[in-house]
Amino acid sequence: MTSKKIYIHLVGPRGFCAGVDRAILMVEEALKKYGSPIYVRHEIVHNKYVVEDLKNKGAIFIDELDEISDLSRPVIFSAHGVPKSVPIEASHLNLKFYDATCPLVSKIHREVENFERLHLPILLIGHHNHPEVIGTMGQVKSPIYLIEKEADLNKLTIPKNQKIAYVTQTTLSLDDTELIVQAIKKKFDHVIEPRKNDICYATTNRQEAVKKIAALCDIFIVIGAQNSSNSIRLVEVAKLNGAKNSLLLENIEKFDNKILENVNNIGLTASASAPEILVQNFIEILKKKYDIAVYEQDYIPENVNFKIPHQLKTIN
Ligand code: SF4
Repeated sequence: MTSKKIYIHLVGPRGFCAGVDRAILMVEEALKKYGSPIYVRHEIVHNKYVVEDLKNKGAIFIDELDEISDLSRPVIFSAHGVPKSVPIEASHLNLKFYDATCPLVSKIHREVENFERLHLPILLIGHHNHPEVIGTMGQVKSPIYLIEKEADLNKLTIPKNQKIAYVTQTTLSLDDTELIVQAIKKKFDHVIEPRKNDICYATTNRQEAVKKIAALCDIFIVIGAQNSSNSIRLVEVAKLNGAKNSLLLENIEKFDNKILENVNNIGLTASASAPEILVQNFIEILKKKYDIAVYEQDYIPENVNFKIPHQLKTIN
């Protein structure tokens, strides 16, 4: 151990959100109820540690339903949501299926259905090819216009006086999204907004907590996955709010200590799909090398809980 003193500012809320907790519990309960294997369509949440753990318990991850070799086994859809065509295909194949779509994503699915019923052109602020975006677009027959950045609005040929509606992906940057929303309102005279902000409570709280201490930090480390939207947003938020540096750490074992050469204050958080054990193990790794002091602060209380379908409950 070197004598170098490093202060870790561990922010909360961090880590698993209610939607991720529910999705993982659904797979675990399905394994208890039906035994293995259980098929899971797509990474149940974007985190390799979680996926590997469930694989070891008997889950088989697939990209599409036609990869299922034993149609007698149940399949679970991931927390990001699926296009309507997926449960339809599952029914045609006579599969037993459970949908782990986060209820906050399902809320957006119902919003786009409602906007379609009202014959409104729908804009979706989100990231191309993200499974949540694919799932939301697949809820309706009419086209949904994907807006990734303000400039995408220039491509739209919808008249200014046409009433339009927008929804957003749940895991976006609050500040970037607000700028796009303002631009939408400038471009169109009549904009119907979601009844409640689509960016979910967990994304909001994790970003707001990072903002509280970003300016104190020489580096802000976000434990999360490269393909996780909410992880990447936390890295951006830290940097934009004053952290001298910020990085996404997927594999804690591969952390390069050289990054800490001129660092005394580390901000540390975990994305909504990263388990707390990775945070604690990372702190232990640093303790072997440095004189570490951890300051933990929970900035926003969270008490959201989503129930799993009663058919999957093995205990009451
Ligand atoms: S990040 Fe938000 S929308 Fe996504 S699973 Fe968690 S609570 Fe649900």
